Amino acid sequence: MRKKIIAGNWKMNKTVAESIELVEELQRVHADQTAVDVVVCPPYTSLKSVSDILSNTQIHVGSQNISAEDSGAYTGEISHEMLKELYVRYVIIGHSERREYFKESDDLINRKVLKVLEKKLKPILCVGESLEQRESGITEDVVEKQIRLGLRDINPDMYSDIVIAYEPVWAIGTGKTATAQQAQDVHYFIRCLIKEMVGLDASNVVRIQYGGSMKPSNAEELLSQADIDGGLIGGASLDAVSFGSLIDSASRI
Ligand code: PEP
Repeated sequence: MRKKIIAGNWKMNKTVAESIELVEELQRVHADQTAVDVVVCPPYTSLKSVSDILSNTQIHVGSQNISAEDSGAYTGEISHEMLKELYVRYVIIGHSERREYFKESDDLINRKVLKVLEKKLKPILCVGESLEQRESGITEDVVEKQIRLGLRDINPDMYSDIVIAYEPVWAIGTGKTATAQQAQDVHYFIRCLIKEMVGLDASNVVRIQYGGSMKPSNAEELLSQADIDGGLIGGASLDAVSFGSLIDSASRI
């Protein structure tokens, strides 16, 4: 039985004061829930304050990115050691915005995933097709390539620590959600692919989240699908009531 995981990607939103306000509200209601893994991924500037507030709660802290390097002359980057010092447990890797605006390649993404696992953090590897790719009928080819390359050289035993976020790019921040059936079809495809790549056990334990305009009104249907193990949430994670409602939906299913 896979535990559902609800993760909030705040992107480049929230000052430190706003972050504190949001997590204080969140932890007042959800601090002790254990039915679902809850993760918040604030901007780097808020990690320390958010970690301090959540330190005695069941809510985990994640980072939106990481360097594939350990330390040194990499201006603007952040290392695993710096993140672990702030009690970060999860790391979003290969978000479509990083792939598109910062030209992150599958190769670099794979190096980051390997680094994160080596350092005992948990990667949330994002994959997904553009609208043009979906309309050309190549969704599965695109997702397969991103997964085969992104998860290259990873031991099957590590898959219980890996989260894959299937995020159709056309559904991110657009208000357009994949139908539950469209999402389930790709999640099932991914699970079968993992089975082919590394075996049945790994495919049974790896968690696959859906991301793309998930919100309280569509969450239950998406989260009820057999292969959807949670959500990676952008817009709706910026408000404690809507994010809390997604946590509630996941814990009811
Ligand atoms: C995301 O960016 O990961 C995301 C899913 O955003 P939104 O929920 O706003 O579509």
